Amino acid sequence: MAELTEYTGKATMEKIVSLAKRRGFVFQSSEIYGGQSGAWDYGPLGIELKNRIAQVWWREMTQLHDNIVGLDAAILMHPRTWEASGHVENFTDPLVDCKACKSRFRADQIPPENLEKKVCPDCGGGLTDTRKFNLMFKSNIGPIDDGSGVIYLRPETAQGIYVNYKNIIQSNRMKIPFGIAQIGKAFRNEIVTKHFIFRSCEFEQMEMQFFVKPGSDEEWFEQWRKARWAYYEGLGVKMDHLRWHRHGVDELAHYAKDAYDIQYLFPMGWQELEGVHNRTNFDLTRHSEYSGKDLQYIDQESNERYIPFIIETSAGLTRNLLMILCDAYDEEEVEGETRTVLRFHPRLAPVTVAVLPLMKKDGLAEIAEAIRAGLREDFATGFDLSGAIGRRYRRQDEAGTPFCVTIDYETKEDNTVTLRYRDSMKQERVHRDQLAAKLTAEIRGYKRLAVSEI
Ligand code: ATP
Repeated sequence: MAELTEYTGKATMEKIVSLAKRRGFVFQSSEIYGGQSGAWDYGPLGIELKNRIAQVWWREMTQLHDNIVGLDAAILMHPRTWEASGHVENFTDPLVDCKACKSRFRADQIPPENLEKKVCPDCGGGLTDTRKFNLMFKSNIGPIDDGSGVIYLRPETAQGIYVNYKNIIQSNRMKIPFGIAQIGKAFRNEIVTKHFIFRSCEFEQMEMQFFVKPGSDEEWFEQWRKARWAYYEGLGVKMDHLRWHRHGVDELAHYAKDAYDIQYLFPMGWQELEGVHNRTNFDLTRHSEYSGKDLQYIDQESNERYIPFIIETSAGLTRNLLMILCDAYDEEEVEGETRTVLRFHPRLAPVTVAVLPLMKKDGLAEIAEAIRAGLREDFATGFDLSGAIGRRYRRQDEAGTPFCVTIDYETKEDNTVTLRYRDSMKQERVHRDQLAAKLTAEIRGYKRLAVSEI
């Protein structure tokens, strides 16, 4: 398949930001005070979508494996952790400031001639020397702020896994190869936060660290690359919007032997979505050195001792949410009007099924409530009884609800309802007793319609 060079979808970042706010997916943090840059709030639909993405990932990475377990480590960690990991020394961006207009730039993101001549690309004023700027948020723990209680907000979830590796082997009798999965917040003092929630200072990661015997690392690396690719296929995202990017020698992190990113074609171009990295035995060797604890693995059968290699799969949860929004976004002309629709996989949709009584009166609302009560045990349900039915369908399309159930006068007679499909807008009559089974089957068998079928 030839690689796409340009974004061909219907989404633009402006449309996504506006829909996200209008429908309660994502709001700017502290908006009434003018907003806090680099931070975002997830509204009623946004938190549902984020939870669903997290659940699907968690199921895929833990439940479907017999050798991967979960963890929820603290955000605040012993400051030595970040010395051992290399973050205190190396987790920096090169920074320059304009002395005239006070603009701040990442030195690697301005034209090299400006950097060389120390000329501001915005106003032509003089630039400062390049300084290293550490991306970790530093704070103070304890009552006295004299520098003795330095503490960092974790810039990645991975270290919480490494420092617990021995605990987990002992408590859960894990044998190599095995993995530890974790979802949680991470914080980075990003100099340039751009493209909505793509790069923020507070975000969430979904990481799985897989511990393997040295020598088997390359094989496991390939296996995890395949598995992570298949994961996105399972989510039903547009596969021609995904590609691999292998890190060149100058891009490789100090700990990495090999690294690939899965990139997604966002409206602003190809960008990293997830990294799959061969981190070697760097992390555990360093934590051994800095903590003084022996972190070698002892193979019970062969009595071999070694520091395991680590294959890491590291995805942004909030960045995945942006990807899912962009990927699902569609517009089409229907009866002279533009229909905006989010074609989420039903497993990800914030509301799976919306129940809509055609009229409030004549007992239809009561029947609808009873049908919803029956469905809510197994599905995320919505309910809407205001406005013309066509308008209500559009509202659900925009929220990405894959199924609507309409209760009308026929329901009173024969207990059938109209089941309406978001993607095709097709409708069919289903007996209310068969509704739950029908929805379950539709969710399991869901296939995104090819453009020609819509
Ligand atoms: P970049 O080079 O873009 O700063 P990175 O290569 O440092 O990112 P990793 O440290 O590998 O990123 O983080 C793993 C994943 O976490 C990324 O693929 C991305 O999905 C997510 N991520 C990293 N930084 C941010 C951020 N500032 N905002 C949102 N998600 C992020």
